[in-house]
Amino acid sequence: MTNPVARLAEVRSSIDRACKIAGRKPDDVTLIAVSKGRSAEAIEQLIAAGQRHFGESRVQEAADKWPVLRHRYPDISLHMIGRLQSNKAEEAAWLFDWVHSLDRRSLIDSLATVAVKLGRAPHCFVQVNIGAEEQKGGVAIAELGGLLEAVHSSSLPLAGLMAIPPEGAQASPYFALLAELGRRHGVTGLSMGMSADFPQAVMLGATHVRVGTALFED
Ligand SMILES: *Cc1c(COP(=O)(O)O)cnc(C)c1O
Repeated sequence: MTNPVARLAEVRSSIDRACKIAGRKPDDVTLIAVSKGRSAEAIEQLIAAGQRHFGESRVQEAADKWPVLRHRYPDISLHMIGRLQSNKAEEAAWLFDWVHSLDRRSLIDSLATVAVKLGRAPHCFVQVNIGAEEQKGGVAIAELGGLLEAVHSSSLPLAGLMAIPPEGAQASPYFALLAELGRRHGVTGLSMGMSADFPQAVMLGATHVRVGTALFED
């Protein structure tokens, strides 16, 4: 039978183990439970088990599910991990505390404008197209420096870099590359690692792991 408490404990202990191996503090790694496609009931089971950071990939789905849950549990942090259209920036800034998919100047401009209007700005990870994939979101590595400068000169708080390695490839070289880009640009936050590979990501420096399936399915 499904047991979210046991799954959460298992994921946490995998993170702790990876931290121990790498000589890192478990407190330096934030576990984001990716709840896209999951019901409010399933989410509440994880909240009851102590989970506080959640991730969604669509603004509309988050708007349907989260206002009620957030009202009930005010200490939740909500992360936008999917592609964000500029015309959804205002709704996103209301709903989310964190955005992991900042990848272009027009989105910086939209988010910075609504941040002034709302008096509220999400912490932003710049998404890097780490495998140079045609169809993927994220800024090209060659353009990362320029985009980071644009973030720095905006009012948006920069949280770090985010990437999704190419499907079917060994993820670790891409995690190592993202960590290297972070060092090169003086950025410390690293959002990387999903159900299949979060322990590797933690060993390579992830500060935020985005885990869905391993928390919600047996
Ligand atoms: C869905 C999703 C995840 C979680 O993936 P799992 O394999 O279910 O852990 C993480 N990051 C992003 C950007 C996602 O869209």
